[in-house]
Amino acid sequence: MFHISAHYKFFPLEEATLEELRSSLFAFGEGLNMSGLVIVGAEGLNGTVAAQSEEVLQKWKDHLESIFGEITYKDSFADTQPFKRWFVKIRTEIVSLGDTEVVPNGKNNHLSPEEWDHMIDTEDVVILDTRNEYETEIGIFEGATDPKLHCFQDFPEYVKKCDIPKDKKVLMYCTGGIRCEKASIEMQRQGYENVYQLDGGILRYMQERPQKKWKGECFVFDHRVAVNEDLMPSQRYGLCPHCGDPGDQNITCEHCQKPGMMCMRCIKSLNRQTCSKDCAYRRNLVLQKKALVR
Ligand SMILES: [Zn+2]
Ligand SMILES: [Zn+2]
Repeated sequence: MFHISAHYKFFPLEEATLEELRSSLFAFGEGLNMSGLVIVGAEGLNGTVAAQSEEVLQKWKDHLESIFGEITYKDSFADTQPFKRWFVKIRTEIVSLGDTEVVPNGKNNHLSPEEWDHMIDTEDVVILDTRNEYETEIGIFEGATDPKLHCFQDFPEYVKKCDIPKDKKVLMYCTGGIRCEKASIEMQRQGYENVYQLDGGILRYMQERPQKKWKGECFVFDHRVAVNEDLMPSQRYGLCPHCGDPGDQNITCEHCQKPGMMCMRCIKSLNRQTCSKDCAYRRNLVLQKKALVR
């Protein structure tokens, strides 16, 4: 069993110390035989990691806290390795809004999953999903507004054009909470006065409030594609080899006859069912040859 943990912390770091931190975190995780991706930058740390036991994962957490202080973790599980390798990378932004001026600093109207549900039940609010369209398609909060973003960098533009009144209570959420840290600052910059964010995101909500207001699965950025209500890897979705979005159509490859998964959009637009781009290419060649012979 793999123990997986998503975590971030906004924490000012000196540019000059980043490489040293990167290599020491890399060495520490490598020593524990971990996998995953951790990003460090001047604004802090953001990662999703997998360890082969709970004890090992705890060692990683203890190590992080010795550097960054208290951190919130969103844990989940998988029977197979969710990551290919172990990476620690330096980036300008630890989650990319495309604006280095937006740097979260401390708590900014965070709601626990329980407070979140209570506010939705008792007040007039807009629930806003700050994730991308390929994520909202497979799971979303009941009644949420979907900005249908292609990427997170489009969020500021969406806020400019959206018709949510500036004085409305806006409750926003994302996968693990990190995007909302920046999205809420962006909304405040654009004049929104009552912006709240779901602390720990969907992953924490699913853990603490199962079977409540979340509907569907939660997209994650690794081999699991998504996690279901039990925080276990999706049984339903695989990554469509043609577009990279989640797909839930089981297919038999027209070229190699192997089973695969595609999304409905690609099945329709390509008019072809293949397990990979390569098989699609080869299948096209075969069909073209046949057409020439005819
Ligand atoms: Zn597709
Ligand atoms: Zn194939």
